[in-house]
Amino acid sequence: MTTPHFETLQVHAGARPDPATGARQVPIYQTTAYVFRDADHAAALFNLQEVGYIYSRLTNPTVAALQERMAALEGGVGAVCCSSGHGAQIMALFPLMGPGKNVVASTRLYGGTVTQFSQTIKRFGWSAKFVDFDDTDAVEAAIDENTRAVFCESIANPGGYITDLDAISAISNKAGVPLIVDNTTATPYLCRPIEHGATLVVHSMTKYLTGNGTVTGGVVVDSGNFDWSASDKFPSLSAPEPAYHGLKFHETFGPMAFTFHGIAIGLRDLGMTLNPQAAHYTLMGIETLSLRMDRHVENAVKVANWLEADPRVDYVTYAGLPSSPYFDRVARICPKGASSLFTFALKGGYEACVKLIESVEIFSHVANLGDTRSLIIHSASTTHRQLSPEQQRAAGAAPEVVRLSIGIEHADDLIADLDQALAKAVA
Ligand SMILES: *Cc1c(COP(=O)(O)O)cnc(C)c1O
Repeated sequence: MTTPHFETLQVHAGARPDPATGARQVPIYQTTAYVFRDADHAAALFNLQEVGYIYSRLTNPTVAALQERMAALEGGVGAVCCSSGHGAQIMALFPLMGPGKNVVASTRLYGGTVTQFSQTIKRFGWSAKFVDFDDTDAVEAAIDENTRAVFCESIANPGGYITDLDAISAISNKAGVPLIVDNTTATPYLCRPIEHGATLVVHSMTKYLTGNGTVTGGVVVDSGNFDWSASDKFPSLSAPEPAYHGLKFHETFGPMAFTFHGIAIGLRDLGMTLNPQAAHYTLMGIETLSLRMDRHVENAVKVANWLEADPRVDYVTYAGLPSSPYFDRVARICPKGASSLFTFALKGGYEACVKLIESVEIFSHVANLGDTRSLIIHSASTTHRQLSPEQQRAAGAAPEVVRLSIGIEHADDLIADLDQALAKAVA
């Protein structure tokens, strides 16, 4: 059989009939521990000589099915699920970084990631250098001998911006550092970062992947393509590991080194484990990912076009509009569409934005995205509140800007709702 298409993988990858019962849907293995066959089996598992289940902080069959599905959808060799998207970001950086090391990151990131990278990671002795990723010379110049990763989003939250992943991966490759791409807003249906040179792909599965606002979850997918032993920059993966009797992850596990390290060290010691019930909801969500994303994109194009033609609206930043400076990148980076997250600016400024948000009826005012329901938020007063005004503007979250996450309802109803709310907002 040839490699199945995305639509087939999203239903089947990682899921086989349950060996004990024949259950067709992936069961929720609500168990903490697993009985060892005998003492030798237990010893082999603890020594990483055999793959199996020990304790659900490390591995669980429901979570493993989701890991296999995400690796298949992203075209990677392995994946590690985590309790949230933010957890996944720390889990991705953890084996790479160390005190004094830095990550070169795009200025256009989810507000929470800007805070995590500019404030919290300092407590580990790590730091981030923020650069405009359209300025490839600046990205190249920012990478120094202590840089251990380059980090960006494929379609950047709060929307309207697409990173030229081919250009950025050419730079990170040349420098011998891995490129980590947050693919949350695009999903692997719209964009496959590994095909554009990404080393690791991280997701907040909380968003489009689960798709209905029920779960907090994250994942790190490894391309398996990076040579961790090419330099001495990544000792966690290339040098002897004292906690496993001097085992060298890269030498022992080859392309699976990062994934095994993520489970055997990352989940074991940081404990940001995804629970099996959350994994089950996410597996069910992913079964309809392509159908939902097609509808999200179709609706977003309709709503964005309508807003752009409305005199009450100053501008719309949706990369799927021909007026967008990033429209040309859609065909190359995310050929099936620019997702359904974007912003628009109201001529009435901050006050009009607040009134608009209080006047919508179908849209929900929530700090989330990628739900079946359409969502609205004023980023400057909420998700991007911790940022300075300069950081807000750089992130596309200026005071006069409202962010929409377009759902899968009927587009005409969404337009009618915005129309009546705009009437109240600019009255
Ligand atoms: C939501 C989000 C995150 C953080 O994910 P959580 O699951 O909320 O921890 C990271 N990146 C992007 C692009 C997001 O939208």
